[in-house]
Amino acid sequence: MRQENNGMRESKGKECFGMQYYMPTKVKMGTRIVREETARLASFGKKALVVTGRHSAKACGALADVTAVLEENGQEYALFDEVMNNPTIDCVYRGASAAREEQADFVIAIGGGSPMDAAKAIAMLAKNEVAREDLFSGNYPDGALPMVHIPTTAGTGSEVTQYAILTNDAGQTKTSMAADCLFPDVALLDAAYLEKLPFETLLYTVVDALSHGVEGMLTKKANPFSDTLAHESIRLFARELPALESRVLLREDYERLLRASTLAGMVIANTGTSVVHTMGYSFTYFKNVAHGHANGLLLGAFLEIAEKQIPGRIHEILTCLGMKEAHELTECLGRLLVKKPEVSEEELELYVKQASGSKKIRNGLVSVDETKIRKIFRTAL
Ligand code: FE
Repeated sequence: MRQENNGMRESKGKECFGMQYYMPTKVKMGTRIVREETARLASFGKKALVVTGRHSAKACGALADVTAVLEENGQEYALFDEVMNNPTIDCVYRGASAAREEQADFVIAIGGGSPMDAAKAIAMLAKNEVAREDLFSGNYPDGALPMVHIPTTAGTGSEVTQYAILTNDAGQTKTSMAADCLFPDVALLDAAYLEKLPFETLLYTVVDALSHGVEGMLTKKANPFSDTLAHESIRLFARELPALESRVLLREDYERLLRASTLAGMVIANTGTSVVHTMGYSFTYFKNVAHGHANGLLLGAFLEIAEKQIPGRIHEILTCLGMKEAHELTECLGRLLVKKPEVSEEELELYVKQASGSKKIRNGLVSVDETKIRKIFRTAL
């Protein structure tokens, strides 16, 4: 595939994959959309397992909307509200036991990436006997229970992906399960649920969505279908930058951010992620830095390195952002993301080794070796 941008021409060469776009999730967006989807929820069966974290599903009103619809339909439900940030393997096996004991016909996930990803693993484990060592194999012959996902943040895009990312203590990182059966059947998007989010949570998740759009464009599987979605998602982020910097957001801002996040989810469902996500997992696993925050610390530095290798492609991304050079993104994210983790030299070397050994790196259009990975980490810190 040949990219032509601003007079700069770059070939993706032999490593170009065929073009593909796949999105089996039905997406509905609107104010009070959950209350309007009574018949759709009724069609999934007699009993739901509702999967949430401890607080946000209740605080934003989404749980009350879901339970009201289920009660109206005469459907039973059990609540599994034990999902922590960066969910563990133990947590999803516990959730799957609950789904089996409760004889749930389907799963409703409410929350950010953690509850939505955990719900996917739970829906799959409810139907498959999978040993812990095979959890990330992608081999789940009996599929998953039907799933309805209701995002309450604007970042992960999990409501439209086939990925579930869990804390993997054996690998000292976060690891992704990937299988088509993990695509939710339905995603219900109501921006009103975002309005009570703490600002930092909103910001970090929005930056995660930006990293999905940008990284998606810098993978070998990127193609005109995924690029079109990525362009729009990145433009929406850029449009919302003044609102994010001022911390004053109106309903339409939340709607655009939620749309940006779901579009970026559709991008990575088709392209995957690469260098930034791989590197960010170390900050999250070892330093408890929120996922989007971790990506945001690394994204500008990564783009500055990528700019030297594939300037036309980076120009295309920067144009969507209304920027001319990659360092402008580094500075912009630096203003938004003030906190940084403290990392010793020894720790940094461990992160460099982990990232350079990751398979995800090979999914990227930008070639990075240990020296470049070290440089990105140093710039980020
Ligand atoms: Fe992400």
